Amino acid sequence: MADTGAKVSARIIDGKAVGAALRKGLKARVAALAEAGAAPGLAVILVGDDAASGVYVRNKIHACESVGIRSVTHRLPASTTTAELVALIQRLNADRGVHGVLVQLPLPKHIDMRLVLEAIDADKDVDGFHLYNVGGLVLGDTAYPPCTPFGVVKLLEHEGIKIEGQNVVVVGASNIVGKPMALMLMARDATVAICHAKTRDLAQFTILADILVVAAGRPNLILPQMVKTGAVVIDVGINRLPDGRLVGDVDFEGVSQKASYITPVPGGVGPMTVTMLLENTVTSAERALRNDNKAPKLAT
Ligand code: NAP
Repeated sequence: MADTGAKVSARIIDGKAVGAALRKGLKARVAALAEAGAAPGLAVILVGDDAASGVYVRNKIHACESVGIRSVTHRLPASTTTAELVALIQRLNADRGVHGVLVQLPLPKHIDMRLVLEAIDADKDVDGFHLYNVGGLVLGDTAYPPCTPFGVVKLLEHEGIKIEGQNVVVVGASNIVGKPMALMLMARDATVAICHAKTRDLAQFTILADILVVAAGRPNLILPQMVKTGAVVIDVGINRLPDGRLVGDVDFEGVSQKASYITPVPGGVGPMTVTMLLENTVTSAERALRNDNKAPKLAT
């Protein structure tokens, strides 16, 4: 980043470092599984040739390697039908060596995404998008919290930031980030408001936030005058500017002079998302091992 001479008063939350610390713990859990004769496995399905999706999948594969999770990528042509994709998922559901099944989104438009996500065994739904796990999230308890909001919660916990009783504003109401984020913070006894594209006078909400989570995909949506002094600002947004720079949704230079904590883009929430995918996959392998141990042994 160019040195603009701007004064930074917020503590910058280093998602890469927090992610690396969590991965050390995951390595230990993988080693414990290996001692019990189990090896966590993740199947990643990539349909079509979307360049960004290709990069995300490669990152996930490398991340798996870094903690000892076996991963297999299934690359399918863009012409794949919903039925063909569901058939592959059913095979992976039945494969005892696979503990997580992940379908990289977005899918080509002709594929019925809802049907595909519902086809994943809820016990292997490491992205947390299956209706069963979404229901669990609503009730405040799920085995597989969706990775991006799960990563945000871990960042807040790692920094020792109190959630209970805080006024939280989530900007963005998507099924994969904004809504689960709001539910997870409600489950931790925050008072949560959710804003979206049709919210009138966004600033009237954001200014009240003790914790502001922004996931809209709009560069410079959040300006310093919209943020309460001392607020914790979590920027989930990832936007590629015409000059090639990667930025979030928050005016980082301006807001970091007002906030108490802020996440940078890149290097904030992004590395945590991948780490939480690893966490969910290890959790799934541990659950499978527990279930195997509980199953009655057949007499030989
Ligand atoms: P999405 O599905 O496009 O949803 C965007 C949400 O933001 C929608 O609810 C939309 O409102 C709302 N919104 C759009 N413009 C707004 C505005 N001007 N004011 C207030 N709300 C506005 O996007 P997403 O998948 O949730 O992702 C959001 C951002 O996070 C993107 O930049 C994405 O790249 C990034 N992301 C980052 C990670 C990570 O690991 N760091 C992971 C996932 C996503 P409506 O519902 O009214 O349309």
